[in-house]
Amino acid sequence: MKGIRLDSVQEFDVLSSTQVIIKEALQKLGYPEAMYELLKEPVRFLTVRIPVRMDDGSVRVFTGYRAQHNDAVGPTKGGVRFHPDVTEDEVKALSIWMTLKAGIVDLPYGGAKGGIVVNPTELSFRELERLSRGYVRAISQIVGPTKDIPAPDIATNSQIMAWMLDEYSRIREHDSPGFITGKPIVLGGSHVRETATARGVTIMIREAAKKLGIPLAGARVVVQGFGNAGSYLAKFMHDAGAKVVGISDVYGGLYDPEGLDIDALLEKRDSFGTVTRLFKNTITNRELLQLPCDILVPAAVENQITAENAPNIQAKIIVEAANGPTTREATRILTERGVFIVPDVLASAGGVTVSYFEWVQNNQGYYWSEEEVLAKLEQVLVRAFSNVVAMAESRGVDMRLAAYMVGVRKTAEASRYRGWV
Ligand code: GLU
Repeated sequence: MKGIRLDSVQEFDVLSSTQVIIKEALQKLGYPEAMYELLKEPVRFLTVRIPVRMDDGSVRVFTGYRAQHNDAVGPTKGGVRFHPDVTEDEVKALSIWMTLKAGIVDLPYGGAKGGIVVNPTELSFRELERLSRGYVRAISQIVGPTKDIPAPDIATNSQIMAWMLDEYSRIREHDSPGFITGKPIVLGGSHVRETATARGVTIMIREAAKKLGIPLAGARVVVQGFGNAGSYLAKFMHDAGAKVVGISDVYGGLYDPEGLDIDALLEKRDSFGTVTRLFKNTITNRELLQLPCDILVPAAVENQITAENAPNIQAKIIVEAANGPTTREATRILTERGVFIVPDVLASAGGVTVSYFEWVQNNQGYYWSEEEVLAKLEQVLVRAFSNVVAMAESRGVDMRLAAYMVGVRKTAEASRYRGWV
């Protein structure tokens, strides 16, 4: 058996730690080793070099990736992130997580992910446009509305989706709104897509709090990260009557045991979602995670909650809005301590769910109201939450393994029916 040894896995290696859980999930579901061999890596992985003419006339060449994990269920789907720390393994792991998300909310997709190694804050608006268009030219052969559908992720937004759509439509010489999701509404975007991840996390928090008998009104919430997911989430929690006592961005965190004025912070933040630099008394991201609170929402990057800080976390509920914020060892420690974890692949599935709604609307050429989208999102996510809880309870496994089991099953079944395994 060509297995991977559980004890040989590095805590911080996102790809191999994901592979370990995929393997465990497939074993528990009764699939043969060959299924793991198929699903442990993306079926397709493209590395591209993107030359960009900078404003000063010089040329910089950026590295980009696109990973397509598995297309047995249907076209692959997943965002594109712009971040200086993007690596091949990270993009591969993220594409596997997209398969799991799509499976958990029962979408007709497999997972994909893209990334460009870049610090977008160093680029001008026009340089960013040229980079976005260059990326689409570089990956155009393997993407498309019935092949692989990109979307926003860290540091990419509806403007970037609009440039990417425009570039793709020029290459194909026809209007193809279903090529990408997270578009501006006027270009075929969907109501609620912009806030979808945060809306989904809000639903998960509500369901988890209900399950644990913690009233949301007055509950103390800490949110790490003030980007698309974190900032809207802080707002929704604040509006729901919870007390958002801590928030943070890449530069640091803010803490007020009486609750922060979220509306004022949203007003002041810049286009990259940073706000804490305007304050003198900040705390570190590390301190933020260990604040006294009821609900902790990591909404930033990977590997924030580790074996080192897991014993000091005071929250009763952790809802993972970010992808991969908690390591396997930390999950074990927290689960043993009785902390209820809503894992990333479930908690952050609201984004791809509304992306799916956007794609369906594009394919139909018929557009839904905000109320319709919200009602559909609610229905899908409440069902997903209860499916994962039911799996965890019936099989006696932690919430992350349960989510992987629910998430991987559809792709594994589709691969089996197609005769691949
Ligand atoms: N980037 C988001 C995620 O990680 C959304 C992907 C999508 O909408 O396709 O779930």
